[in-house]
Amino acid sequence: MVNYKDLGLVNTREMFKRAVAGGYAIPAFNFNTMEQMQAIVMAAVETKSPVIMQVSKGARNYANATILRYMAEGAVAYAKELGCEHPEIVLHLDHGDTFELCKDCIDMGFSSVMIDGSHLPYEENVALAKKVVDYAHQFDVTVEAELGVLAGVEDEVSAAESHYTKPEEVIDFSTRTGCDSLAISIGTSHGAHKFTPEQCTLVNGVLVPPPLAFDILHEIETKLPGFPIVLHGSSSVPMDEVNTINQFGGHLEAAIGIPEEQLREASKSAVCKINIDSDSRLAMTAAIRKHLAEHPGDFDPRQYLKPARENMKKMYIHKIVNVLGSDGKLACCE
Ligand SMILES: [Zn+2]
Repeated sequence: MVNYKDLGLVNTREMFKRAVAGGYAIPAFNFNTMEQMQAIVMAAVETKSPVIMQVSKGARNYANATILRYMAEGAVAYAKELGCEHPEIVLHLDHGDTFELCKDCIDMGFSSVMIDGSHLPYEENVALAKKVVDYAHQFDVTVEAELGVLAGVEDEVSAAESHYTKPEEVIDFSTRTGCDSLAISIGTSHGAHKFTPEQCTLVNGVLVPPPLAFDILHEIETKLPGFPIVLHGSSSVPMDEVNTINQFGGHLEAAIGIPEEQLREASKSAVCKINIDSDSRLAMTAAIRKHLAEHPGDFDPRQYLKPARENMKKMYIHKIVNVLGSDGKLACCE
């Protein structure tokens, strides 16, 4: 059993408080590989941003749970080596689906966990979230819970259609569970194919998806003033990366994400954590495809993973500075 504080990690409580008050959002980037981890840390250090590094159940299956935990510990040491004296790095479990999984992560040094009981009947969701909160809070680990269902596919999480969060439930849910933040469903979704072309409108040759349900978000904010809100499934699926992938032998059809202006607007509200996973996958794949197509003789993974890492770092910095506004928001710079 290890506590996250001994690993130099922090929980989300203070950074969320500052983000809600300051009208910006903390980036939550998923990672499975060393290159993603390095790119996230380099981007966070360069921009002086707090950052949430999150691990899904699928990531634990892919990379091994122990390795990922040591990578997060390594991330703190690496940030310091890069010159950041007081990095604020959260190691978060994304979409924990059982109490046992959350407990396992807490016991091995995670500073934050999500318990996703959103697919369960309401009372069962409350009971499961409360059980995780009661365990987590003994160790000062923060807990994210979810109300409402997001459509799309993310590792093992998938739902055919979304169900928007019901604002009339949020006070009861947050009070009874004691959760520290709430993931809501207002029109974002998992994966790189968030909308069908039929759901979109064509504006100047670009497919524009339906806007997020800001009315629901504002209603939730009114009911829970200052309470940290989380948006999942918030990649914007940049067309230049999709085009690069397709230009160099890929075949991604009708990939559509959330427009960055809408995420920028959401960041200014009580939304204080924005999850981005697909954009990192796209940035990595685009750079690897381009490199291998242009250098068919290369076979050292470092030759194509280096530009992949650079491209992800550029994307992370762009999100932090131009979309979420968390640059320069480390406690030590304020
Ligand atoms: Zn998610």
